[in-house]
Parts: sequence; structure tokens; C-alpha cells
Amino acid sequence: MNITENVLSIKSKIAEAARTAGRSPEDITLVAATKMNGAEAVRQAILAGVPVCGENRAQELTEKYAQGAYEGAGVHFIGHLQKNKARQVVGVCSLIQSVDSVGLLAHIDKLARELGIIQDVLLEVNVGGEETKYGFSPEQLPPVLEQVSNMSGVRVRGLMTIPPISDYKGRNRVCFARMYQLFIDISAKKYDNVYMNFLSMGMSGDFEDAIAEGSNMVRVGSAIFGPRIYPAADK
Ligand SMILES: *Cc1c(COP(=O)(O)O)cnc(C)c1O
Repeated sequence: MNITENVLSIKSKIAEAARTAGRSPEDITLVAATKMNGAEAVRQAILAGVPVCGENRAQELTEKYAQGAYEGAGVHFIGHLQKNKARQVVGVCSLIQSVDSVGLLAHIDKLARELGIIQDVLLEVNVGGEETKYGFSPEQLPPVLEQVSNMSGVRVRGLMTIPPISDYKGRNRVCFARMYQLFIDISAKKYDNVYMNFLSMGMSGDFEDAIAEGSNMVRVGSAIFGPRIYPAADK
């Protein structure tokens, strides 16, 4: 695995997908999904031009942060965040992409106010309607967005989704298109304290399709770092 070559190749694919969709390559943010990759690999990716890293676990974030792994790049949180771990993430990550419940949102709001900051977040949408997946259903979003106007410690900057694992190429386009429509509908409604700046969707296997359907933020892991080797107990 040559991380530098991989990053350059992903960046050129992103640029091409953007141009094909009639958009500018600079409009699309590449987030390197760094879970299970050590500080050295993360540094290589940043040196190769990755502007933002995305971590899934608070503990990994804390460890790599202490090692200076993210220097020269931004860091987002993209995994399921337990409330009791939120303190390790709020104010450290410039964007928490994976807010998946009102309870978590309210907790982040409280922690951010204690710190005297405003935490930018995305709301995670379970657009595929999978029971096993975290996130709000599209129907749950309007009442949640109403509540955000009363939360001075958070600012909603967009939406994120992880579509169902697909068995053939192109299958997720329907989910991506539905997300884009939600993104547009919410923008038009003009909720207080809600800005639809980022639509985070697309991973190693489908980021080009996601861009074609309107994504402006892709989270790419294995196509940069190679396949992740999970410990047997985690399977
Ligand atoms: C791991 C992960 C990714 C990247 O997945 P790849 O298929 O390796 O590109 C993207 N988003 C989230 C939330 C992830 O956990």
C-alpha cells in the first residue's frame, strides 16, 4: 500500500467525478477515515494532501491527537459517539458528523456551552431505514431541527449518511439521491441555527456515485490505507 499514491489517485477521481457532475473539484472535501490506522499512516496521508481526518472512536482520537497525528489537517468525528465519551470529542473535532440522537445533541450542546464554544455538527440520517443502523429517519428530522434553534452550543452544518452495504455497484445511488433531496428541502425551510453546508456521503466503494448525486464531503478509508484488519474478537 502506497498511501501517497492512493491519496493522489483518490483526489484525481474526486476531481473527475466533480467535473462530470458539473461542479468544481474544490467544492468536495476529502475526509480520510483513519480508524485502525496509526499516527504514522495518518501523517503520510496528510503529507500527501488529505485536508481532514475522520475518527470513529473517542479513545483512538485521544491517543492519536496526543501523538500529533493530525498536525496540518483538521479532524472530524464520524463514528457512533456514546454520551459518556462526548467530552473527549467536543471542542477537539471541528465537526462531529455522526450525531444520531436528540440526547446526544443536547449533551454536546451542554458540553460546548460549558467550554464557551459552538460545536459544529452534522445530523446522521438512516436513509436506508435499517434497524441496525444509527441515525435519524428522514421523518424525525423536522422536529429535531426545530429544537436546534434553542441550542446555543451547537450549530447544524449539514447531513451525513452511511447507506446499506451494497452488493452491486450503483445500488446506493437511490439513497444518495434521497439524501440530496432532504438536504435541499431543509435548506429551503431556513431553520434557525441550521446551515446546510455539508452533505457527507460516499466511501471507498461509492464516492463517485455519491458525488454524482450531490455529495460535497466524502469519507474514504480503505482506498487510502488498505484493508483494515479487525481483531477476531471484534467481528
Ligand atoms: C470506516 C468508515 C468510512 C470509510 O470506509 P471505507 O469503505 O474504508 O472507505 C466512512 N465513514 C464511516 C462512518 C466509517 O466508519
